[in-house]
Amino acid sequence: MTDQIKTDYLVVGSGAVGMAFVDTLLDEMPDADIVMIDRFAKAGGHWNSAYPFVTLHQPSAFYGVNSRELSQGLRDQTGLNKGLGDLATGPEILAYFDSVMRQKFLTSGRVRFYPLSNYEGDSVFSHSLNGKRTRVEAKKIVDCTHLNTSVPSTHTPNFSIADDVRFMALNDLPLVTDAPSGFTVIGGGKTGIDAILWLLENNIEPKNIRWIKSRDAWLIDRKNTQPFPEFFVDTIGNQANMFEAIAEASSKADMFDRLEACGYFLRLDPTVRPTMFHGATVSQAELVELRTVKDVVRKGRVASIDEDNITFMNGRTEATLGHIMVDCSASAIKDNVIKPVFKDNVITPQTVRAYQPVFSAAMVAWVEAHVEGEASKNGLTGVVPLPDDLDTFVRMTAANMMNQALWGQNKPLGKWMRETRLDGFSKMVSGVSEDETDKVAILKRLRAAAMPAMGKLQSFLS
Ligand SMILES: Cc1cc2nc3c(=O)[nH]c(=O)nc-3n(C[C@H](O)[C@H](O)[C@H](O)COP(=O)(O)OP(=O)(O)OC[C@H]3O[C@@H](n4cnc5c(N)ncnc54)[C@H](O)[C@@H]3O)c2cc1C
Repeated sequence: MTDQIKTDYLVVGSGAVGMAFVDTLLDEMPDADIVMIDRFAKAGGHWNSAYPFVTLHQPSAFYGVNSRELSQGLRDQTGLNKGLGDLATGPEILAYFDSVMRQKFLTSGRVRFYPLSNYEGDSVFSHSLNGKRTRVEAKKIVDCTHLNTSVPSTHTPNFSIADDVRFMALNDLPLVTDAPSGFTVIGGGKTGIDAILWLLENNIEPKNIRWIKSRDAWLIDRKNTQPFPEFFVDTIGNQANMFEAIAEASSKADMFDRLEACGYFLRLDPTVRPTMFHGATVSQAELVELRTVKDVVRKGRVASIDEDNITFMNGRTEATLGHIMVDCSASAIKDNVIKPVFKDNVITPQTVRAYQPVFSAAMVAWVEAHVEGEASKNGLTGVVPLPDDLDTFVRMTAANMMNQALWGQNKPLGKWMRETRLDGFSKMVSGVSEDETDKVAILKRLRAAAMPAMGKLQSFLS
């Protein structure tokens, strides 16, 4: 037998995107009734299965939902992020989403949450433990599963591993008790970086760490992502540097050189040219630590691991050295299929600002509440592709700048953006007064370079 319930919005997924969307919808659309469902027992999405030492990569100050602070405005006083905005840990993020769910969503009486529930499609979900099926009659369905974040503890590696290999997701590193000969970290992305930093912080000597990377990545200096007035020169100044570097570039390759020269990009090894960009951030102190690991293997993608050898796709090999193999090969973003955000009765929140899934979800909810008509709604929510390689960086940056220019023409949206905590930077820019001459000069440079940069990106795209 299938139960029947009715609602205005059926929101599938209570990860960060679902939570940020619902939070803004509740505030901007005071009559909306909402049903949320998720396979997990608690809100928070992939943070439920993250590794124990995970933290945000961006300051907590602009992560989460609009209506509730996550950071208390703290700066880290110790560690490799010292001096920068604090990075919430996985447990902090989960506790935060749990309290938003209990204290705001459920208390409002307008949200019903069905955890441990699998969406089957066609407005039906089933309970994972008792199998009970429920059909939802909803005016709109909001698909907050689109990003499909993949994490090491739940993904299946795309290479084979023999039974006698000591292989683990980085989640299990804190359970190791027998002081192995060393650790081989597989994966050059942010998770690989987190694993290496954690090993170093826990007194593993760099010579006992090997790092397998199929690609090197351009990285972002976390100092330039700080939404605090004292970092104006770093964040907004860096943005001006970026626009100028793009505007002056004579080719795509020259653009990446210039972006590195002006401090927008960092790389781990100055002798290796990165071919990937996933938007990962590091602090300068983390970079110094990471560079102490000298055994970096660049032989392409791993094909298989047996007791003695790691074999790569191109047939080359590396001895296993009796190391623990640490799996950091899950790519957080599996595919990059872009859909219209608004289509008939389905809303699919996607990134409308680069690197900012939660700001984007909240903004999509704002548009749903305040803009009439599918074409106008989609006009304001052009999807910014997720970055992967160097070409997608160009597409992402062009789409990002295009949205920013469009939003600037919408006054109510502009007001909301200045007020939302999820937009780290609009406030910083709008708060500059005429007598702050250094800041005014940066803003002038930013505005002067924006159109030429946009034109250059378009020419690279064509
Ligand atoms: C280690 C790590 C660090 C990160 N740091 C940052 C950061 O600092 N800043 C930032 O902006 N982003 C960061 N991200 C990116 C991160 O993916 C997003 O911030 C955000 O958490 C993604 O949320 P989501 O809701 O799209 O996805 P998810 O967290 O994956 O949530 C999707 C939800 O949908 C549910 N679901 C899926 N299918 C179904 C179904 N059929 N039925 C029911 N439920 C379903 C899932 O159970 C899940 O709860 C990080 C990612 C990782 C892996």
